[in-house]
Amino acid sequence: MNTAKRESRFNFNKSKTVISEKLLADFQAVYGAAKPDFICRAPGRVELVGGHTDYNQGFVIAAAINHSCFVAASKRSDRRISIYSDWAKQKHTFVPSKNLQPLTNCQWANYSRGLAALLSKHGLKLKGANLYISSEIPVGAGLSSSAALEVSLAKAMVTISDPNWDIEPSQLARICRQAENDFANSPCGIMDQIACIMGRKDQVIILDCRDLSVEFLPFDSKNCCIMIFNSMIRHEIAGTEYSSRRQQCEKACQILHNINPKINSLRDVNLSVLNQAKGKLGPTLFSRASHVINENMRVLKAAQALKKNDMLQLGKLMKESHRSARDLFQISCEQTDFLVDKICQIPGAYGARITGGGFGGAVVALAQPEAVQEITKSVKGLYRKRFGLNCKIYLSEPSQGVELINVANS
Ligand code: ADP
Ligand code: MG
Repeated sequence: MNTAKRESRFNFNKSKTVISEKLLADFQAVYGAAKPDFICRAPGRVELVGGHTDYNQGFVIAAAINHSCFVAASKRSDRRISIYSDWAKQKHTFVPSKNLQPLTNCQWANYSRGLAALLSKHGLKLKGANLYISSEIPVGAGLSSSAALEVSLAKAMVTISDPNWDIEPSQLARICRQAENDFANSPCGIMDQIACIMGRKDQVIILDCRDLSVEFLPFDSKNCCIMIFNSMIRHEIAGTEYSSRRQQCEKACQILHNINPKINSLRDVNLSVLNQAKGKLGPTLFSRASHVINENMRVLKAAQALKKNDMLQLGKLMKESHRSARDLFQISCEQTDFLVDKICQIPGAYGARITGGGFGGAVVALAQPEAVQEITKSVKGLYRKRFGLNCKIYLSEPSQGVELINVANS
């Protein structure tokens, strides 16, 4: 796969994004300034196939979605960075330095503190800024509100401090991920930040999580719709289950490494090696590793299907992916299983699966545009009847990654 070329990312895009008057007014209400200097927009993401493959150095197919986190920004005359979140309904102010530490009582602000510390360590001389965060991405629904937040904030900090700062997209993704890992105490992989930074309209990304190389695959947005179902069950990526899956993968890898020292991640394991090690791994680790190895193969098959615009095959792989996530990796729950089951019974739905970290969160489906209305109506009704919950549904298509929006002429 080709590594993405350096982009001129810090120029203002000729963005078609409409600037929300409310965001401008809210910024003024908090900071009393005339207007923000610019707005950064970073999208959430959805992974179509490739669950929990990222931290196993495997493959994943993801798309940036058309729901975004916006950060309105203006310079300050002092060195302080002030951040207001309309989700947290709080302001947090700090002086940027590479010695910043996370706070125990203001979790949402740790992303920005982490970014400021890490960007400083990478040599960026951070300038003072007033930042206002407004996001359309539901928090904790598996659509990566966290990566969108980090990327949008990082872009704003870099643009204020040194718009010509030279940094590769994959390096910026690594910094954002480290901020999340080390400051927000959330052990996420790299896929979220890559999709959020590099996403493209009408294309999905296949990411090789070993070397972070990406390839863009065509996605026929006119004839296939991405539907995202928020189960309204809050997933907790920082919780014990997600960490436990990571540890189980590491343990399985260690056992396989002891058998063959060339194995350094589950990515290096094929099915015959896995089957030979079944006794040494025991049933739980065998199931976990089996999911990861088969999921990697599904991702590669899904890439072929996308190249041929074969949505039936892609949908079939998504259904298999869900079964594996449910039975072998055990990251699904009653509500997400119910959603997948009901969606897949409706004509025009190609396939569906749990997406994101798991344990609740979201289900992603691909469907013919003509079927969207029926799927929406039917699944919402059935879900409400069964669980008494209003499942929120987002329609999306692969969208462009992070961008700068000039507000000067608005
Ligand atoms: P997700 O799947 O949405 O990424 P995470 O648990 O990884 O779920 O991230 C959610 C966390 O990200 C929130 O608890 C909060 O700390 C932070 N976050 C997300 N969006 C915002 C926002 N608009 N303002 C402040 N913090 C946010
Ligand atoms: Mg997240």
